[in-house]
Amino acid sequence: MTAAADLVVTNAEIHTLGDPDETHEAMAVRDGRVVRLGSTYDVEFLAGVDTDTVNADGRVVLPGFIDAHTHLLMTGRSLVHADLSAADDADEAVDLLCDRAAELGDDEWVLGFGYDETTWTDGRRLTRDDLDAVSETAPVVAFREDLHVASVNGVVLDRFGDDLPPADVETEAGDPTGVLVESAVDPIYEAIEPDADEARELLTAAQRHANERGVTAVHDMVRKSKAPEVYRGLDLDGDLSVRVRLNYWADHLDSLVDAGLRTNHGSDMVRVGGIKSYTDGSLGGHTAKLSEPYADAPDETGQWVVSPDEVADLVARADDAGFQVTLHAIGDAAVDAALDAYAATDTPGEMRHRVEHAELSSDDAIDRFADLGVVASMQPNFHKWGFDGGLYDARLGDRRTDANRLPAYLDAGAPLAFGSDCMPLDPLLGVHYAVNAPSDGQSLGVTEALRAYTAGAAYAGFDEDRLGTLEPGKRADFVALDDSPWDRPDRIDDVDVALTAVDGDVVYDGR
Ligand SMILES: [Zn+2]
Repeated sequence: MTAAADLVVTNAEIHTLGDPDETHEAMAVRDGRVVRLGSTYDVEFLAGVDTDTVNADGRVVLPGFIDAHTHLLMTGRSLVHADLSAADDADEAVDLLCDRAAELGDDEWVLGFGYDETTWTDGRRLTRDDLDAVSETAPVVAFREDLHVASVNGVVLDRFGDDLPPADVETEAGDPTGVLVESAVDPIYEAIEPDADEARELLTAAQRHANERGVTAVHDMVRKSKAPEVYRGLDLDGDLSVRVRLNYWADHLDSLVDAGLRTNHGSDMVRVGGIKSYTDGSLGGHTAKLSEPYADAPDETGQWVVSPDEVADLVARADDAGFQVTLHAIGDAAVDAALDAYAATDTPGEMRHRVEHAELSSDDAIDRFADLGVVASMQPNFHKWGFDGGLYDARLGDRRTDANRLPAYLDAGAPLAFGSDCMPLDPLLGVHYAVNAPSDGQSLGVTEALRAYTAGAAYAGFDEDRLGTLEPGKRADFVALDDSPWDRPDRIDDVDVALTAVDGDVVYDGR
């Protein structure tokens, strides 16, 4: 006699998102794994007296979303501190910071995260004058969403001014404007690093938010933070509701090696991922490294944040030590440098080395992704900058249609994984942009877009044997949607998540 299921999902439109995508009406789960898919009749006999039943009321059920590029501490900060992504112009951002300041003591840090002036009506960055209006006694910082730019008030400039590298402190007529870029952002960022208790509060808020958006696993980027110990603590306490793959910053490599760790070590819920480094900066900051000058800055081609020689050295060391590597590379010159470094290793495809963002890859580069087996870890939500008058238009001019050519990677046979970069954390918004891209050469079909956020991201995390599709033997990580993305491809951003489950346990129920 067959053991009873722990959970039965009935009356659903379950998409396996395998290749080919198959649909089933019902699914049974036991010990956290899918044990059967079929008609309600096929599955119902597995129900016993202790079996939970979810009647999906005809909803679409998909494998849980795997966000291959997150900064959950940052998402937690936007949930707890001022969320500047909600502002439509600089004045609104200042209002949000004032609201936050009113909740705090006199000299506590007033923090805001996620502003993007390119989407604002006035299109200008926050300055010291804006932030002095929030407080002239407490330190005030507003981080741009890419974290390569921070705006600060006079208190912060007084406190940190002498320690900031002058080249990255913006000035006007000799006086700092309050806008800091690149290496000038680091000391501020370190000063506001949360302790373990605050990190637990932030990450708990962020995982709840992720579950509400159908996310069951993340590849999180961590640097000198309490995040790894907090995730492991949550896991031991049974309080972790999202699987976490930890991509550690390059400055952790030696201590990881000393601790005997390597890629894929860990538990069912928390695993060691890759080693992360920058190559270049961002298009927003004119610091992404381009082969041709910026359209709006004809003398500039961007800058290396980490030089190609240093990147090559890091990749060689990490690869030797058994680590996957994830390199941030946005401009075409940076993507080439990342691929060069990977090509110099013995088995880049076996290690599944990754390029994060890869926004402006050349045709040759896209072929090399496929040839080398390097994962393109891309953010379809970045298409938001690709429309007329957007950031790509300003920075790249005609080259904007060369950005984020998602179908070209699939056509070439390159591994493609989707993530949000927490701008914002919302896979269905990403799928919406992938399907409704600025141009045909940038858009995917619904199934392809969903696969990159499930099976594609699972592959990028060596997880294709347990995650990414719904089939017997795999983990029962799934999401139920209120509407079918296939039925309303032009409004996928309006599709609501009804329910999210990890290991067959319901972690979010919004029905
Ligand atoms: Zn990122």
